[in-house]
Amino acid sequence: RADCKVQIAPPREVHDRLQGSKESEEKQDPPFDWLAFWHLLKPQLHNFVLAVVSAMVVSLVNVQVPILLGEVVNVVAMFTREAAREGRNFMQEIYAPSIKLVKCYVVQAVFTFSYITFLTRMGERMADDLRHQLFNSFLKQDIAFYDRHKTGELVNRLTADVQDFKSSFKMCISQGMRSITQIIGCGVSIYFISPQLAGVTGLLVPLIIASGTALGSLLRSLSRRAQHQVAVATGVADECLSNMRTVRAFAMEEEETRLFTQEVDRSRQLNEALGTGIGIFQAGSNLFLNGIVMGILFAGGHLIATNEMQAGDLMSFLVASQTIQKSLAQLGIMFGTYVRGTSAGARVFEFINLTPEIPVKGGKIIPYHSLMGNIEFRNVSFAYPTRPDQEVLNNFNLRIPAGRMVALVGASGGGKSTVAQLLERFYDVVRGSITIDGEDLRTLDPAWLRGRVVGFINQEPILFATTVMENIRYGFPAATDEEVIQAAKTANAHDFIESFPDGYNTVVGERGVAVSGGQKQRIAIARALLKNPRILVLDEATSALDAESEAVVQEALSRTVEGRTVLVIAHRLSTIQNANVIAVMQHGRLVEIGTHEGLKKMGGIYADLIRQQQQEESANTDNT
Ligand code: ADP
Repeated sequence: RADCKVQIAPPREVHDRLQGSKESEEKQDPPFDWLAFWHLLKPQLHNFVLAVVSAMVVSLVNVQVPILLGEVVNVVAMFTREAAREGRNFMQEIYAPSIKLVKCYVVQAVFTFSYITFLTRMGERMADDLRHQLFNSFLKQDIAFYDRHKTGELVNRLTADVQDFKSSFKMCISQGMRSITQIIGCGVSIYFISPQLAGVTGLLVPLIIASGTALGSLLRSLSRRAQHQVAVATGVADECLSNMRTVRAFAMEEEETRLFTQEVDRSRQLNEALGTGIGIFQAGSNLFLNGIVMGILFAGGHLIATNEMQAGDLMSFLVASQTIQKSLAQLGIMFGTYVRGTSAGARVFEFINLTPEIPVKGGKIIPYHSLMGNIEFRNVSFAYPTRPDQEVLNNFNLRIPAGRMVALVGASGGGKSTVAQLLERFYDVVRGSITIDGEDLRTLDPAWLRGRVVGFINQEPILFATTVMENIRYGFPAATDEEVIQAAKTANAHDFIESFPDGYNTVVGERGVAVSGGQKQRIAIARALLKNPRILVLDEATSALDAESEAVVQEALSRTVEGRTVLVIAHRLSTIQNANVIAVMQHGRLVEIGTHEGLKKMGGIYADLIRQQQQEESANTDNT
């Protein structure tokens, strides 16, 4: 992160932003990776089996309950009529069926507890595992991956998608198991109670399924669109709030408010439509199901009147058929859950399975004592993976001998920072090669290269929200406090750090003490120094500073560069006059190379650049 340039997005066309969101809506989710799912589930298999078995027991008991209830009701119903007159004892007769019922309820309670416990345990552990794997995979991805994906999207996969996947999976197991067992069990029960009545009710099942599925899928697609719209509105707010300075600077407040209102309104409309849909669905299905109850009561009453059925049996039948109806409805809902869960899971597995083209570690290491730091770019051509058609470097050649300082200058967009990024191996060259002491960069261990060999200081150093001490130690975690302080001294940072309220233990970064640009830069220099790199890359390190801080930072830098191979990318030509060699870049090519004096005399592009800058400077002085 320390090496990222902060880019402030200018307010783009509203049209573009909406276009972007439409594209992502149309983007298909990748297929669900069942093998990866199995690997994830395997360690939790015991919890899974316990949860499934417990859920099965609960549903089997649920199937029993209506029958036992019927038995109890039969006894009760009998006593309202002739039994009391015959002198039979109610307590005696009700005892056996009620004890059975009570036992069932107890078993149901115990196994409900057990399936929820095991299910939760399984779900949480799988989610934990997924987050761990996903984060791990993120940190291994190429920088190109981060060019392609927004941070918000990645965070979303780590949080919302994992959450969605977990809860859907749990739901499918608990509800799915229960619903299916109950449908089958209660189906058998009602058949044994009354085959005729069961037959008639059974005829209605396909109708329920068909209408439920049709309406359900309609509602689901509506719900998906509503959800997506909420995300679009949030995205608009997020982008605006996190770039508030730019919004303010362009006086775009009203436009942003209008855009946000428009998206929020659209989201409200969709959610209202969804509400209406759900209302119709609920009301309609209640009416329909109550109709069935009425029908059963009517037909059952008829059977009771003709002595073909007992009152308790009718009661059992009603409860059991209600259970079937409820379970069918659950299955319908579950289908939606299944789709949501697998697509969330697919998005998570997609990134877990992604292998970066540039590994983060592994490869050759040059032993410290034989590492010289000779750098050579030979016929390098390069295009960023996100824009393969735009060749940023074109047959670029540059040698930086060990211990020398080469400055790269040229108009903005000429490819200077790209050269620095290639040296860090953030990207691989498309053609040609980069070598360090004759070894191709692609054969060297990237972790060693970045962690020990190349120090990188750029225009916008990043401080983490921790102490100054830890911020510097980020450069080399094994460093002792003394080494950190020594590095800070070399970087001209010791004095101002000591003047902070808690010295080196002062928390900086977003919520800590405010640090000026020059101070930040010196902390970054200390950080880079700590790993004692053979090669140092300074990417416009002082161009964001005012003249006074620049002088202090420059002094620190001149001490820092001693004895190292240095590549300095500079905006202000005055800062690089003491470079051994100055290389001028234009459109991805090296166009001039020489010393400051030599190039000036040559009267080419470099001389032009100097003239331009002198003009700008004198214009600035005139203005002040
Ligand atoms: P300089 O440092 O000389 O200003 P850069 O190396 O930053 O030039 O950029 C050279 C070209 O590469 C520019 O056209 C720029 O738009 C493009 N570029 C820079 N970074 C990226 C990136 N991450 N993805 C795609 N294109 C990029």
